[in-house]
Amino acid sequence: MSLTLSADLAADLAALYRDMESAYDRVAKQLHHSCDGCPDNCCDSYFTHHTYIEWAYLWLGLAELSEERRQQLSVRAARCIDSYTHAREHGKRPQIMCPLNDNGRCSLYRYRLMVCRTHGVPAVMTRPDGRVIRFPGCFRCQEQIETRPGQQHLPVMERTPLLRRLVDLEQRFVSGRRTGSPRLAMTIADMVVDGPPTHV
Ligand code: SF4
Ligand code: SF4
Repeated sequence: MSLTLSADLAADLAALYRDMESAYDRVAKQLHHSCDGCPDNCCDSYFTHHTYIEWAYLWLGLAELSEERRQQLSVRAARCIDSYTHAREHGKRPQIMCPLNDNGRCSLYRYRLMVCRTHGVPAVMTRPDGRVIRFPGCFRCQEQIETRPGQQHLPVMERTPLLRRLVDLEQRFVSGRRTGSPRLAMTIADMVVDGPPTHV
């Protein structure tokens, strides 16, 4: 059965993304954290993504581009995948710039995925089994926190309700069909090369 991202679902995901950004910005503001002037660029970090709906949404952005531009990104993405394989074969964690990054900036910023929107500030998440996972924030945010000793109650981004909403949207997108086995784990390069998701 084919997968089609309806306008309603796309709007609901866009609303969730906006809420993620607001939650992130609130914490970043309290911590005086920003990416401006950072010597690093997280877009070269190796991440996999786990929802079909985000994959389909990314393709709404890709579909707006010219065929020539999509081809260019696809070639870049294929090179990324080769580099990931090469790094893994040499026992290294890949560190290769995302194919959608142009001169330090995301070329599909409106369509970037949850991981791209939440990395940076300290966060907490409660898993369905009750286990609490804490994220310390990126190296720069941690450095910025260390320069302000005495701050007893650091704000953190609470990811749990946001992730629940993403899971609900994913279930609506795949019409309740199980997607947990095997779990989807794709890089953005994979998503660009493979085209939009067509089936679960
Ligand atoms: S999230 Fe942190 S490490 Fe990444 S670019 Fe921003 S400041 Fe730098
Ligand atoms: S999709 Fe955009 S924000 Fe996410 S890693 Fe790629 S370039 Fe960076």
